[in-house]
Amino acid sequence: MTLQGKTGLITGASRGIGRAIALAFAREGANVAVIYAGSQQAAQHVCAQAAEYGVQARAYQCDVADFDQVKETVQAVQKDLGGVDILVNNAGITRDGLVYTMKEADFDAVLDTNLKGAFHLIKHCYPIFVKKRAGKIINISSVSGLMGNGGQANYSASKAGLIGLTKSVARELAGRGICCNAIAPGFIDTDMTAKIDKDDNQLVGMIPLKRMGRPEDVANLAVFLAGSGADYITGEVIRVDGGLAM
Ligand code: NDP
Repeated sequence: MTLQGKTGLITGASRGIGRAIALAFAREGANVAVIYAGSQQAAQHVCAQAAEYGVQARAYQCDVADFDQVKETVQAVQKDLGGVDILVNNAGITRDGLVYTMKEADFDAVLDTNLKGAFHLIKHCYPIFVKKRAGKIINISSVSGLMGNGGQANYSASKAGLIGLTKSVARELAGRGICCNAIAPGFIDTDMTAKIDKDDNQLVGMIPLKRMGRPEDVANLAVFLAGSGADYITGEVIRVDGGLAM
């Protein structure tokens, strides 16, 4: 129970990687705030599963791209669960296309959710962490942010931006005992990658460990980064990609 008595706020926790992180945190004894955009039932189900570990779990609908909604949500989590010790910026979307045909709205939507959303959460949790002189921030980036990806200029830019945000926040808050790190997953089997053929030999052939990742592969690292075992790690970007981007 490495996170006993802590409270984790996880965005995009109704499905996929965020869901796995919320459940792993609950298993380790943390109360969890499950933030979602539209999947209310799924979010409630995650809360019910988390509560089976004997922790408090609450779902909050919040568009992370909306500054005021994030402010209100962080206030609600603080009131309901007594604070925030671990923030996981995981909510993310794709609007893929070649730059030539990409609509401005699709570029903006991806940046607003994936990058600005993380800024909103960090900004509104900042005073909570600073007051406690403790806190862990984990941003879910992507190998696309490290390597780039044709057809994903908006997504890759948002994920590369998250790395700059991570390192800047890490430097800004290190003196207050707050750590900020990023995880860069490779191909993880979730709704986001549902269109990818998991038996595609070409895809699997690019991955040295010869399989797509599972949400739990990412959650295991998030648990480590959230716990005291990672107290001397900040500003780091760690890949969970089966060796894809090494
Ligand atoms: P999913 O598409 O499975 O889930 C996305 C989650 O984000 C959902 O919970 C969704 O909520 C939430 N969400 C989307 N937009 C918003 C918003 N505006 N406000 C609040 N919540 C929102 O994605 P994954 O689990 O695959 O991905 C999670 C993160 O990991 C993303 O940041 C993604 O970019 C990153 N990643 C994923 C990889 C992969 O291969 N799957 C690889 C590398 C990085 P709702 O259910 O309510 O719509």
